Amino acid sequence: MLIIMRTNATPEQVSRVVARLEKNDLQAHLSRGEERTVIGVVGDIRHLIPDRFARLPGVERIMSISRPYKLASREFIPKNSSFPLDGVTIGGEGIVLIAGPCSVESRSQLLETAHAVREAGAHALRGGAFKPRTSPYAFQGLGEKGLELLAEAREVTGLPIVTEVMSPEQVPLVASYADVLQIGARSMQNFPLLHAAGKSQRVVLLKRGPSATIDELLMAAEYILSHGNRRVILCERGIRTFTRTTRNTTDINAIPALKARTHLPVILDPSHSTGHWEYVAPVARAGIAAGADGLIIEVHNNPEDAFSDGGQSLKPERFAELVRQVRVIATAVGRHVTQPRTAMNPRRENAVTSHVDAIR
Ligand code: PEP
Ligand code: MN
Repeated sequence: MLIIMRTNATPEQVSRVVARLEKNDLQAHLSRGEERTVIGVVGDIRHLIPDRFARLPGVERIMSISRPYKLASREFIPKNSSFPLDGVTIGGEGIVLIAGPCSVESRSQLLETAHAVREAGAHALRGGAFKPRTSPYAFQGLGEKGLELLAEAREVTGLPIVTEVMSPEQVPLVASYADVLQIGARSMQNFPLLHAAGKSQRVVLLKRGPSATIDELLMAAEYILSHGNRRVILCERGIRTFTRTTRNTTDINAIPALKARTHLPVILDPSHSTGHWEYVAPVARAGIAAGADGLIIEVHNNPEDAFSDGGQSLKPERFAELVRQVRVIATAVGRHVTQPRTAMNPRRENAVTSHVDAIR
């Protein structure tokens, strides 16, 4: 349910509505637009009498949200939401590029790759320290040692780091190193993990499950948003279909379909969606043409020797070429690739400065 406040509603009137909702065990999520404040009501509203709220001072009208996800919906926040990640805006006009190895393997591998992707224009460094592997015998990641190496790479390149967290218990540890918590495709419906990531208030990169529908992805995002954490990036990373020609099938349709339904930023991972380095650039270009707000790309200084996903990892020079191509496609669709931060600034805390505020 949405409570639309009048354009001239006072902060006291807004607070009064919020207090009344909280008294009824409901959550109030505020969206402060340029003209008016909209209150998203979340919780069990079956016994709520909308008329009682409609009569409160400052309230213009009550609307229901037709979608099963509420806070993620464009009905709640019609404009694209955007937020800063270490000085770079995610979800704005500019396109952002996250790049780096599938797994953190060693200091030299990570630092060499990190410097190369930064040179090429990446805005953030990816790399898994805790790896979800199909086989329990495959390389599982370096764990905390990997997080330490990522922190060192951030220190020397200035790039914020994106890394996967696999369980709710791991969230405090990973959040103490990472700028962005990645929730992997296999964990998209790990509900305790979604709750913990929401509570952490870190930026979350949520990947679509290999067999998840668009609505299921948005419902997963809703878990994170329900904790007042508005900084969620959605990622299409390919779905499981009958074809075995590619590792997954890139659901390009998901990009405009998500953008139509949600205000959250949407990025594409053409590395996992194709599984072949040769297809990464063409599909990345298609993603940008389809309206993605960014890309996450696997890049390795020496893909032949990679511990995981070498076959889909780009060599640094190929990534640099891809960045040049993406710039051209971005311009063709009226956008641009965000200027990378050149200064090696020390890390800053990420503040929410989007046009919306969370009040819980
Ligand atoms: C990854 O990013 O390395 C990864 C494991 O991705 P996904 O969860 O999309 O398979
Ligand atoms: Mn990978």
